[in-house]
Amino acid sequence: MKIAFIGLGNMGGGMAANLAKAGHIVHAFDLSVEALARAKVNGCAVFTSVRDAVAGVAAVVAMLPNGKIIERVFEADVFGYAPTDAILLDCSTIDVATARKVSGEAATKGYAMVDAPVSGGIAAANGGTLTFMVGGSAECFARAEPILADMGKAVIHAGEAGAGQAAKICNNMLLGASMIATCETFAMAKKLGLDLQTFYDISSKASGQNWSMTSYCPVAGVGPMSPADNDYQVGFATALMLKDLILAMDAAQSVGADTPMGKLAAELYQAFADAGSSGQDFSAIIKTL
Ligand code: NAD
Repeated sequence: MKIAFIGLGNMGGGMAANLAKAGHIVHAFDLSVEALARAKVNGCAVFTSVRDAVAGVAAVVAMLPNGKIIERVFEADVFGYAPTDAILLDCSTIDVATARKVSGEAATKGYAMVDAPVSGGIAAANGGTLTFMVGGSAECFARAEPILADMGKAVIHAGEAGAGQAAKICNNMLLGASMIATCETFAMAKKLGLDLQTFYDISSKASGQNWSMTSYCPVAGVGPMSPADNDYQVGFATALMLKDLILAMDAAQSVGADTPMGKLAAELYQAFADAGSSGQDFSAIIKTL
């Protein structure tokens, strides 16, 4: 299949490479010349504009920084330039309102579109093991699924347009809050004189068990290998966790949801980022507790 891929950064670079590896003809575009050069090495055909990249394709995949850029790129350079029978997939993490707006505009112009944000970081993007949560009609999902499957290990239909983004920020709000709870718990266990490996052995089999503890333990030398064992090098950057928590707080406000734990997590990650730690892994917040 001929697929345009827009946004070849940390995540998009590996995803576009995996589409090419799966046998698709990938029309790659990014504003960065370096990103384009890497895409070329990885088997993509490189283009100098979005409009040229989307001409004649069967699908358009975007992996861009935020909702404003997604809206601008789709309105200015995709709608009217990609064939109307192309399926449009936005894999970026953006706000729910913009995801619904852009999908609505796509539908008005005759396009099928899904929001399909990902769970999993750069390693999963490179390894083709991302999880996609997809918002869109059943018909759009059926068309998007095989394309996403070439870049991931799981593709889940979350509901109608915007539901993928809603699922992503709900999940990441829970992750942010549970990481801080895990960090403060280990810090307290240490002060109470517990051996942290022993506490892990107990809590990971007891009711305190959670993903931040058993898959991404913030304490070096405890649990499986995680960024804590590598001096908190990323992983999942504090800046990206903060981005998702801010999106979650906007979404909570828009529907009047009461999220005191999410709000506190957003405030704590904001303070951590402001103190110069936005480039560190999000589990490094344990250093402040
Ligand atoms: P990145 O900054 O590494 O890449 C973004 C790319 O988009 C850059 O190469 C940039 O040059 C390009 N770009 C920006 N504006 C453009 C435009 N108008 N036209 C074409 N290209 C443009 O970011 P990333 O880490 O790859 O993240 C991409 C998306 O994935 C974000 O929405 C992010 O929240 C989400 N995400 C990231 C991770 C992660 O671990 N990095 C995990 C899950 C989701």
